[in-house]
Amino acid sequence: MGGGAERNADLKALIRTIPDFPKPGIQFRDITTLLLDPAGLATSVERLAGMADGPIDAIAGIEARGFVFGAALARELSVGLVLVRKRGKLPGKTLTEDYALEYGSDSLEMHHDAIPQGARILLVDDLLATGGTALAAVKLLRGAGAEVDQSLFVIDLPDLGGASKLREAGVSVESLVEFEGD
Ligand code: AMP
Repeated sequence: MGGGAERNADLKALIRTIPDFPKPGIQFRDITTLLLDPAGLATSVERLAGMADGPIDAIAGIEARGFVFGAALARELSVGLVLVRKRGKLPGKTLTEDYALEYGSDSLEMHHDAIPQGARILLVDDLLATGGTALAAVKLLRGAGAEVDQSLFVIDLPDLGGASKLREAGVSVESLVEFEGD
């Protein structure tokens, strides 16, 4: 672990924006450049850990970039990690939650026995946009018997309204950085 100075990276400056990916008009907020920076990664994980509220039983990370921050955060908080995956990836018996995308739909899955009844789960992903993905993960986890009342993101795009949707569903939302627009 480095000293305090190493943990004060300018996170926003370390996130690269790639215009028109994966399609025209999308400003893709690319956290691979943040991950490459040791101080950036350490600062991100430490700040996320500082936002975690109260005792939690496990972290749930959303595939795929939520796994990266979720695993590091779980290690930092000395709890386990639940993988919320895209359809068809998990080998055991799964629970599934379908959710709407701008065009079409997608599904999230988790192992049916990943969570003990009533466990308090902290949801983590790299980025919150419309909130559709995170809300589906909350429903999935609650359907599995979890208590889910907090979520953490590296990036929030507040103009897309995801945080309000999660709060309406009884889930607190915090993020490390915000970008205006979509
Ligand atoms: P949403 O369901 O609209 O909140 O979208 C969130 C999910 O899509 C997250 O898992 C993000 O990784 C990804 N995502 C959405 N918009 C962007 C963006 N502008 N840049 C990078 N990732 C994005």
